[in-house]
Amino acid sequence: MKTYECVCGARLFFDNTHCLACGHEVGWCPGCARISALESLAEGGYRCLHEDCGAALLKCGNYADHDVCNRLVAIVDGRAEALCDCCRYNDVVPDLSIEGHRERWAALEAAKRRLFYTLDLLALPHGTADEGFDPPLSFSFMADALPDAGLWRSTAGSERVYTGHAGGHITINVKEADDVERERLRVDMNESHRTLIGHFRHEIGHYYWDLLVKGRDEDAFREIFGDPAAPSYGEALERYYEAGPPAGWPADFVSAYAAMHPWEDFAETFAFYLDIVAVLDTAHHLGFSGIDHDASLPRMLSAFQQVGLAANELNREMGLTDLVPEVVTPTIRDKLAHVHRLVHQASG
Ligand SMILES: [Zn+2]
Ligand SMILES: [Zn+2]
Ligand SMILES: [Zn+2]
Ligand SMILES: [Zn+2]
Repeated sequence: MKTYECVCGARLFFDNTHCLACGHEVGWCPGCARISALESLAEGGYRCLHEDCGAALLKCGNYADHDVCNRLVAIVDGRAEALCDCCRYNDVVPDLSIEGHRERWAALEAAKRRLFYTLDLLALPHGTADEGFDPPLSFSFMADALPDAGLWRSTAGSERVYTGHAGGHITINVKEADDVERERLRVDMNESHRTLIGHFRHEIGHYYWDLLVKGRDEDAFREIFGDPAAPSYGEALERYYEAGPPAGWPADFVSAYAAMHPWEDFAETFAFYLDIVAVLDTAHHLGFSGIDHDASLPRMLSAFQQVGLAANELNREMGLTDLVPEVVTPTIRDKLAHVHRLVHQASG
């Protein structure tokens, strides 16, 4: 992730809506693909103040009405889309009549924008149903129906909401955006990390399995990740929740959950690959020399090890969990190589 510069010279960050130094409103300009200072226009709308741009803009509806977005849309021939290039993927959004849901939705959108930044950095294809993209990508952010608890009332129906992916549709339970709840789940499930961005990177891994592997590259997938039909997903799931991961799983899997079934292994490996790309891209823009996401896999992994070592030690100094808990064994390297090849074929 890059950082950007305000007209006043102060540094702007990807999530900013205001410049903390001069107070200018800021947001993501689709004209120059950056966080830029905005000038409010008398006739309505905004102008991008970046010297090379000057695009006429409107705030995304979710920025203007709910403050859960910081993106703008271009005004072309007097018209503009209602929602930005990230928000237009939403199918169901949280019920805002429930206290705390706006803040949780904002956290979900911030993670989703970061996901799209990395997908676009890798030039991975994605699109909506309106654009005719197959399979179309969409998101639902929903809460469980637990009327007595009062906290997680549903926005749609009465059943429990499972975070997951089906046919391009990604559902995330709003409670994942609650820090206390998410940390409790992380400890319960014995995970080294549990984050919103991690959920998005995992679920999009299932999406890219559908898009890039299903019916196209399944033989190569089976060779590396195993046969998804034996055992079936249902059997594997039941076995995992009864018996847990096999002893010695860290030699072959990036996480315990990856050991559940080849599809989960692929999604976890894909998420780890996106972690690596995002961390290297950020390290590059922060001035770590000789480090970038755009390299051969061996170079990426050696750079990631270098950055990871530094970040882990810094985190330990502050009593935080390791930034990079994973150890890349030869088996995991082969799985990452499969994902690396798929990503480069798709972007080419
Ligand atoms: Zn400023
Ligand atoms: Zn601009
Ligand atoms: Zn938006
Ligand atoms: Zn999954």
